[in-house]
Amino acid sequence: MQHRHSSIRIVDNLAEITRHHDRQVLEKSLLKTLNELFPAQSLRLFRVRRHDLVHDISLLAFCVNDVISSSDQHPKLNFETADELTAALTKAIDKEDIVSYRQSGNDGWNVIYPAFDSHGEIFASLVHHCHELPSVNDQRLVHGILRVYANYLALIDKSQRDKLTGLYNRETLDEQITKILVNQSSELNKLMASPNDSRRRRYAIKHWLGVVDIDKFKVINDTYGHLYGDEVIILVARLMTSGVIRDDDLIYRFGGEEFVVLLKAANEVDAMQAFERIRKVVANHSFPQLGQVTVSVGFVEVSAQLSPTDVIGQADEALYAAKNEGRNQVQNYHHLVAAGKVMEPKKMVSSNVELF
Ligand code: GH3
Ligand code: MG
Ligand code: MG
Repeated sequence: MQHRHSSIRIVDNLAEITRHHDRQVLEKSLLKTLNELFPAQSLRLFRVRRHDLVHDISLLAFCVNDVISSSDQHPKLNFETADELTAALTKAIDKEDIVSYRQSGNDGWNVIYPAFDSHGEIFASLVHHCHELPSVNDQRLVHGILRVYANYLALIDKSQRDKLTGLYNRETLDEQITKILVNQSSELNKLMASPNDSRRRRYAIKHWLGVVDIDKFKVINDTYGHLYGDEVIILVARLMTSGVIRDDDLIYRFGGEEFVVLLKAANEVDAMQAFERIRKVVANHSFPQLGQVTVSVGFVEVSAQLSPTDVIGQADEALYAAKNEGRNQVQNYHHLVAAGKVMEPKKMVSSNVELF
């Protein structure tokens, strides 16, 4: 039988996909490969999270007219999945297999491929929209490539996680902050180029970084032992990931009993509320033997700082204030600066800066 795709080309493409370590680059690379092998009207990669019995579906990346975009570059692209598509996605997830259907009101086909993680949990789904239904072999090839992507992603994910808590480890934190800083400055440039673009301003998403530190943890360790201390760290991590912040916000184990939370919020009030929810969920939990354990939080907007170290440093200053003011509280770096409680770092005058 004559295959439409040479194996060399497929292997080349797989090698290209697995060359990347960054999740978003990986997603785009997957779509690029699939689009090259199977020119499509559109390819969409969805993130799927199971919440009890329902699936929370959001767009991660898409390829239309050979142009690949990540939904992060279009933060407000509020993708409404059509009922028909949602039903088919659900079917593919339940069947754990490929599902295809002819779109109503359109002569094209949608082929849906589910992707599962190493625990057999659904985590993504690919929707391939095309004029003609691909052959069974081609469908299996797409599914195979998607599975290689899923396995590779699982491996990367494992290397980026902290063994004790399952949260992200520190390794990719700097990279993540840098990515936000770079995006913010390009957004700012665009805004300065067209200051009247109120839509852009309204839609601009702000990022906030908080350092969360367990209060008087040394006492817990000294009284109940290190192993018990570890249990408390695990419990606090679990409480923070129990739904008090958004699914796509990121939590890192930063050090022993310290965590970093990177979240999106429209403004300072919303950010404060998110960090307050973290503080409260811990303070309201009854820990075996100990009763109450509390955390202190210092946070800052990730916006115009010069480096990830500066961002963390400012959040750390706010944390220090939270500890000084009595612990079990959240402090905002910008408020502290405005109140004269911490000194803002001296602004560099660009003409005086010697970089090298
Ligand atoms: P504060 O309220 O000021 O944060 O007081 P603290 O006692 O929490 O702060 P400190 O930083 O002095 O103590 C942190 C302790 O955490 C010291 C260290 O022995 C312990 N620790 C660090 N990493 C781990 C870990 O992985 N497991 C356990 N059980 N303890 C750890
Ligand atoms: Mg502490
Ligand atoms: Mg500490």
